Amino acid sequence: MIVMKNVYKKYPNGVVASNGIHVEISKGEFVYVVGPSGAGKSTFIKMMYREEVPTSGLIFINGTELSKIRSKDIPYFRRQIGVVFQDFKLLPKLTVYENVAYALEVIEEAPSVIRQKVTDVLKLVGLTNKMRMFPNELSGGEQQRVSIARSIVNSPKLVIADEPTGNLDPETSWEIMKIFERINAQGTTIVMATHNREIVDTQKHRVIQIEGGLITRDEYEGEYRNEI
Ligand code: ADP
Repeated sequence: MIVMKNVYKKYPNGVVASNGIHVEISKGEFVYVVGPSGAGKSTFIKMMYREEVPTSGLIFINGTELSKIRSKDIPYFRRQIGVVFQDFKLLPKLTVYENVAYALEVIEEAPSVIRQKVTDVLKLVGLTNKMRMFPNELSGGEQQRVSIARSIVNSPKLVIADEPTGNLDPETSWEIMKIFERINAQGTTIVMATHNREIVDTQKHRVIQIEGGLITRDEYEGEYRNEI
């Protein structure tokens, strides 16, 4: 699903955020990305959906080498990946339903298909009864559930999440994690940067630790560990 070969990323200000990353992530895996602030976790993740471009090295997503994608094809490429952010990034003037439907409207999906997919996905995240509400009428956890619904409504094979529970209390974080587990159980690959020790140590999955732009640990059924 994801292959990175000797990926190096230097920002224009001279900061090296990836210093030669090699990794392979298979279809259906659930991967936590851990490491201290400024380690290069977001950069690692952003390069997967071509939000950032490596200075050198190769990245393959589902067999496509990302530097070969032409600019005009980037929106199409991104549609195959669901992305969830710490701060939800919902459209404030649209309802829950409309926020999720929007992802399908831009690709001109048929209205009947949109209705069905949005209804199904809102049910999956438990928001059927709040679909006419606006983001500012929802709790943080509910807003994150909308954001997850939006990320998966197009049935992506890969979902990337950057600190999705970073703004949420522990109980709400668990609810969100259960939804990610459900999505993963349906075969979707998940790559998630997180600082949530309790979740990483309880919901055992592969743990990739990044420090100073390098992978310093890569363990199946890994732990968060104390030192980070
Ligand atoms: P993390 O997600 O682990 O906190 P980041 O990937 O966000 O790490 O950042 C890694 C390093 O790259 C940090 O030193 C950060 O300041 C720097 N960095 C991140 N984004 C940019 C950018 N757009 N321009 C310049 N430097 C950046």
